Amino acid sequence: MTRPVVTRFAPSPTGFLHIGGGRTALFNWLYARKHGGKMLLRIEDTDRQRSTQPAIEAILDGLKWLGIEWDGDTVYQFARAARHREVAEQLLAAGKAYYCYATAEELAAMRDKARAEGRSKLYDGSWRDRDPAEAPEGVKPTIRLKAPLTGETVIEDQVQGRVAWQNENLDDLVLLRGDGTPTYMLAVVVDDHDMEVTHVIRGDDHLINAARQKQIYDAMGWELPVMAHIPLIHGPDGSKLSKRHGALGVDAYRAMGYLPAALRNYLVRLGWSHGDQEIFTTQEMIDAFDLQSIGRSAARFDFAKLESLNGHYIRHSDDQSLVTQLEDLLHYIPQGPAIAARLTDTTRAQLLQAMPGLKERAKTLLELLDNAGFILAERPLAIDAKAQAVLTPETRALIGRLRAALENVSPWTAATAEAAMRAFAEEAGLKLGAVAQPLRVALTGRTTSPGIFDVLAVLGRDECLSRLADQAA
Ligand code: GLU
Repeated sequence: MTRPVVTRFAPSPTGFLHIGGGRTALFNWLYARKHGGKMLLRIEDTDRQRSTQPAIEAILDGLKWLGIEWDGDTVYQFARAARHREVAEQLLAAGKAYYCYATAEELAAMRDKARAEGRSKLYDGSWRDRDPAEAPEGVKPTIRLKAPLTGETVIEDQVQGRVAWQNENLDDLVLLRGDGTPTYMLAVVVDDHDMEVTHVIRGDDHLINAARQKQIYDAMGWELPVMAHIPLIHGPDGSKLSKRHGALGVDAYRAMGYLPAALRNYLVRLGWSHGDQEIFTTQEMIDAFDLQSIGRSAARFDFAKLESLNGHYIRHSDDQSLVTQLEDLLHYIPQGPAIAARLTDTTRAQLLQAMPGLKERAKTLLELLDNAGFILAERPLAIDAKAQAVLTPETRALIGRLRAALENVSPWTAATAEAAMRAFAEEAGLKLGAVAQPLRVALTGRTTSPGIFDVLAVLGRDECLSRLADQAA
């Protein structure tokens, strides 16, 4: 009987959920959803020095924001140390592991010797068959796996293909340290086994670990999960991903105004493809996802592509949902609280009304928020430097006259305001632009804005007349 699919995401909480981790989580989630299985979450917090509670929270929060829901309770690896120990002792009892009493100095000498002789096996196996009765006083032994000395250890990887290691090059790995704490290698295997994980999908920096882990599976007589090691994400020039190139936490993408749906779509295409399809709904991703179409070479991170995808998602988002997401963004940006203080029923309604125009020209929510600044601005408006240059005694006088002309507009709509402006320009013998630009400056404090008639309509009669009065000579 085939087991139901169980995948897992197993981050170490030593920092935020970085973008590569987000992609690994997404792949695991998609695979589980596609096969009607489960994706579990295991926090690998055994490094007590570097694991922190804020990092755990950042990871959970990042996953939730990305829309990746895991199944069941979160497993904390450190809490399972007793079980890890139990397995090490089981292997010892079965003669598949042994106590190693080599001291730190002896191990260092072995390593130096091995390196000098160009051998990758660093431990000389001296305690493998030695009688523990010979154990030196006062040395707390480690427990090492009695790994096979000949033959090879093979991983049939779903992405990398068949990868083989000569056992003569693999050390007898430490399962339990002298202080009784389990090693990472042991903990991962025991946890994956106990969590009934069927598929391990993770970064290919763990490929060598897969060989070592397989030796533990074999020693325990446990079934090895299907392995899929995905190439890491590189920068646009093929180098290691740097911060400048996007090696940031998922939270940084949120604060830059990326939509979770857009980031998900971007990440799924980072190393995986489905023909030449670029845009995927969540359901389409789930239906199409497979391990075979993950590429073998490193994916390159491309900010421009992410931006353009985000712009697509913004344009296709429902107006109200964008207002909600803008409000949510305010919690994550430094200027957020000041802007949030300007949110009222009126400004929210104005944002919604302006959204069809705003969403056409923004690649990120941050840009959208910036373009919506005229709605949330307080009178008298701050006028930026470029806009200031438009305000001369002549244009200020023009603004005064225009204000008088607009005062009679009723009802106040984009169309009626436009008609009044055109009539005013014609009467004054001016081009529409010569009127629109000072008007824009007075209403928005800037030289660029959404369409001026939309600005007029969104701000409403009273606010427009007041802002014009503020700048009129
Ligand atoms: N905790 C490891 C990491 O964050 C992942 C281990 C695994 O997936 O097996 O890189």
